[in-house]
Amino acid sequence: MPDFRRASCRNCGQHKSKVGPISWGGYCGDCARDLLVANIDGLHTKSGVPWQRWKIGVAENALGPEVTAALFKAGVFAPPLDAPVKGR
Ligand SMILES: [Zn+2]
Repeated sequence: MPDFRRASCRNCGQHKSKVGPISWGGYCGDCARDLLVANIDGLHTKSGVPWQRWKIGVAENALGPEVTAALFKAGVFAPPLDAPVKGR
């Protein structure tokens, strides 16, 4: 079920009148598919933002948020974590 309150995709920025309904996550259908594929590829190849997010999640569970924040500050995890998916 789409989120009828959203007017545009948070990844590509296009209006719902052009790309169709926007999901509760804030993405149009094409961007949602691209994000899913990018996430699967990143986890499979151990690269990119999905792999960074996975490593941070494991560190938070194993070491706690304070140690993870210190590791992040020390540069163990490479930014950026909020980079949009390209290639459309
Ligand atoms: Zn989009």
